[in-house]
Amino acid sequence: MRIDIITIFPEMFEGPFSESIIKRARGKGLVEIQLHNLRDYATDTHKKVDDYAFSGGAGMVMMIEPIDRCISTLKQQRSYDEIIYLSPDGNILTQAVSNELSLLQNLILLCGRYKGVDERVREHLITKEISIGDYVLSGGELAAAVLTDSIIRLLPGVLGDETSALSDSFQDGLIAPPVYTRPRIYKGWEVPEILLSGDEKKIAEWKHHQSISRTKARRPNLDPD
Ligand code: SAM
Repeated sequence: MRIDIITIFPEMFEGPFSESIIKRARGKGLVEIQLHNLRDYATDTHKKVDDYAFSGGAGMVMMIEPIDRCISTLKQQRSYDEIIYLSPDGNILTQAVSNELSLLQNLILLCGRYKGVDERVREHLITKEISIGDYVLSGGELAAAVLTDSIIRLLPGVLGDETSALSDSFQDGLIAPPVYTRPRIYKGWEVPEILLSGDEKKIAEWKHHQSISRTKARRPNLDPD
């Protein structure tokens, strides 16, 4: 898979993309991530990518021309399955969305700043809009990093068996059961006896029951019954 990210702050991705699972996935060649500084596609010597909003009002708006030039340059090199704009009013990111995107080959993620992008970008250049929640961030970079992480960990070969994404919350419409490790008793707080019983059938039943009751309590919208 290849993910191209368009941003005016490429350095913001250095931390999240150079540690742990994403670092390993990149190192193994399971994903290629390319960062593109939108300012490189500006048309003037000041590398300007934003301008005042028509009709006035507070805040600058990202101009269509540099964004179009960047996306067009990328599209000349390969075809893209989706061109995604991170936006607070986009479709809410869920595990199902990440699952779907993880099956694709080439993605572009566009990070907005200021008041957002000129609406014509959304109308003519973008194929999908994704929000990471009903709150407003200062820019799309953190949202793009969240989306990228949630996709990459689903790619075959990225996670080992012991951390398999299939047993994580939301994959089967349920929240994952609680987990414990040593010591068996800490400050008098005990691990549930059943987990130490060695009875695999009973343990599986217990875990399933825990998943159902947690889902009912914490995410009743998932309708666990
Ligand atoms: N004026 C916009 C509005 O009210 O919807 C908010 C713009 S926000 C300050 C700047 C950029 O941050 C957006 O263009 C978008 O790319 C990104 N952003 C902010 N919140 C986001 C969220 N919840 N999910 C995804 N991207 C977000």
